[in-house]
Amino acid sequence: MTIARVALDVPLPRLFDYLAPDATTNDIGRLVAVPFGRGTRLGVLVAVGDTSDHAIDKLKSTQAIRRDLPAMPMDWMQLTQFCAGYYQYPLGEVMTLALPPMLRRGRLPVRRKAALPERPAAIAPPQANAEQQIAVAAIAASTGFHCFLLYGITGSGKTEVYLQAIAATLAQGRQALMLVPEIALTPQLQARVAGRFPTAHLVSAHSGLPDAARARAFIDALEGRADIVLGTRLAVFMPLPRLGLIIVDEEHDASFKQQEGLRYSARDVAVFRAKQRDVPIVLGSATPSLESWQHAERGRYTRLLLTRRAVAEAPPEVRCIDTRREKLQDGMSAELFAALAIRLERGEQSLIFLNRRGYAPVLACPSCGWISGCRRCAANLVVHLADKRLRCHHCGYENGIPLACPECGNLDLHPFGRGTQRLEAALATHFPAARILRVDRDSANTPKKWQALLADVHEGRVDILVGTQMLAKGHDFPRLTLVGVVGADAALFAADFRAPERLFAQLMQVGGRSGRADLAGAVMIQTEYPDHPLYRAVVDHDYARFAKAQLQEREQAGFPPFTFQALLRAEAPELAQSLDFLQLARAAALASEPNNVALYDTVPMRLQRLMNLERAQLLVESPSRPALQAFLGRWMEPLYALKAPRELRWHLDVDPLEF
Ligand code: ADP
Ligand code: ZN
Ligand code: ZN
Repeated sequence: MTIARVALDVPLPRLFDYLAPDATTNDIGRLVAVPFGRGTRLGVLVAVGDTSDHAIDKLKSTQAIRRDLPAMPMDWMQLTQFCAGYYQYPLGEVMTLALPPMLRRGRLPVRRKAALPERPAAIAPPQANAEQQIAVAAIAASTGFHCFLLYGITGSGKTEVYLQAIAATLAQGRQALMLVPEIALTPQLQARVAGRFPTAHLVSAHSGLPDAARARAFIDALEGRADIVLGTRLAVFMPLPRLGLIIVDEEHDASFKQQEGLRYSARDVAVFRAKQRDVPIVLGSATPSLESWQHAERGRYTRLLLTRRAVAEAPPEVRCIDTRREKLQDGMSAELFAALAIRLERGEQSLIFLNRRGYAPVLACPSCGWISGCRRCAANLVVHLADKRLRCHHCGYENGIPLACPECGNLDLHPFGRGTQRLEAALATHFPAARILRVDRDSANTPKKWQALLADVHEGRVDILVGTQMLAKGHDFPRLTLVGVVGADAALFAADFRAPERLFAQLMQVGGRSGRADLAGAVMIQTEYPDHPLYRAVVDHDYARFAKAQLQEREQAGFPPFTFQALLRAEAPELAQSLDFLQLARAAALASEPNNVALYDTVPMRLQRLMNLERAQLLVESPSRPALQAFLGRWMEPLYALKAPRELRWHLDVDPLEF
């Protein structure tokens, strides 16, 4: 009797067996409709055999093997299986994530009419400089798997290297996969790729696409028609039969790590995939993740260097403004105000970077001490004066701004601290004639609004930009000559050991916005710690020094990349429920006598309450990735078998970025 093993979108780490008289090994990778519970589900046929762990006479039969739909290729099956194993996540759920929703429902997109797409005029590539030539040649010369870390400041011509490497790949008749952090923010890049390869078939892949477009892109890639796939982390799962090159731009960016469901790192999966397919991969960044930098230090990755800006003469001059002895006005120093005034006079643009949106982080009553807290989270409600709301940035809960203190009736409530809206208002008061534009997730909450804001900047309708890290990423603002940074100090002392790495990357990135082409740029960082090594490294544009110091600290403290971690998190209405569950999980782990793996104490999470759930976590750590993986593999069965209260949810986060 032929038995089909099927991966279903069910939160259980197992496959499901069905009788399938007509199945053959040729059907592996096909979608298959099977009875499940009282209904029918579509799964992926993973294996055929003639035995089952279940009684054969109890097995149900498959309903239809969908031979009308394309089958997933073998390497795609292996890739999803690798992810299921590495992240300890049910294979059916991995496959569900990796398939476009339309295909998952068993439907094919309508073929587009063969109307010839409008071809952008080809843009000739610039002559690569010496460093770029070395980089492109090294990438093009690697015949099999090789991981390159392309390290160069903003504007040093990394994208140009990607494009020339892609050109070499296309010339061999192979496909290129390029991953970027947020495609909605990078239409400029899409236009640049399309402009460079006017006859290549370029498809984009990200979750913002309409269902049919996403399915079409997937099938174009699968059937080998797509030459270049440009996408966000999800695109790492695109089937690519002719794959020849993978690029991960801004490889340090946290958005490559999915923070829910399958908590995968698209960068890490991309490296696995390059190895699996025996093709080169390029990780590019001005501020590489310390994980990747460490690999380069140890020689596992080949470092490619771009040391100067491709066009502008010199990088911007970076300085700290010491605010220890100064009384700030609206959070800004006299020096920063003066620098802004000079740019206004010269008709140049400035950017003030404050990575906190809203008007003020909290509303408080000075007479009784009440502060605006979220009723669902252990967090404060942020004052949003623009639309007169108090809003929780963690769960989205919102409320009107109270006129009087809910505790004591005092009418004089004070917004405390400063966000982008408040800064915008203060600048408007100070420079009444200036055109000020705020760019954050509130003002640019749709791609369309974002495009409109960008157009305003580009077409010179803006004098002063106020914005969060949204502004820091990958945009050319040719008339921008001043970047002011305010409110960055808090991140120096954050409890999260990755906070300095993130701050450094942000400062380098936002600083890189200043001074392009013919205009010299300046960056001014307001701080009470002007001698802090992190700021000193930013001032000197010295990522390597910063990375060295951080890696030393990490090694001493036993943090990644010197250890490998996984977090088991639990959330439930009562904290005790979460902690109890983790205790049981810990006991089960210890019972399996873990080898070379440390289990920490169960603790409440830093943001303990979120959406009315009390959260706790258990950290597992090992100096050896294989040891950690082996342990996790053994832990899952007892974990799934644990009795937990019905309201409790748990998940495992392998290589967690956030604690
Ligand atoms: P990055 O990706 O490192 O920020 P880009 O590749 O976007 O850098 O290059 C920055 C700017 O310099 C772009 O406008 C690009 O067209 C230009 N550029 C890059 N390389 C060269 C080169 N070899 N000659 C002339 N211009 C170049
Ligand atoms: Zn009060
Ligand atoms: Zn909340």
